[in-house]
Amino acid sequence: MANGIDPNLINIYGDQRLCCKCKKKADVVEQGRDYCAEHYCQKSTGFTLEQLKQEMEKLRFNKHD
Ligand SMILES: [Zn+2]
Repeated sequence: MANGIDPNLINIYGDQRLCCKCKKKADVVEQGRDYCAEHYCQKSTGFTLEQLKQEMEKLRFNKHD
């Protein structure tokens, strides 16, 4: 530990982590890889955020019946 900086701690202090897919600011770290909200969504649900929003709206709409 030459300078004592743990890369896992960087996102506690600021916005130093970047999405491994698009290099935008990462919001989520999973299994040591960083993801922005968009790519985390795609990875975990298979939908883009936009598609997910549409799916949720469909579900909400259907629940009114
Ligand atoms: Zn991304």
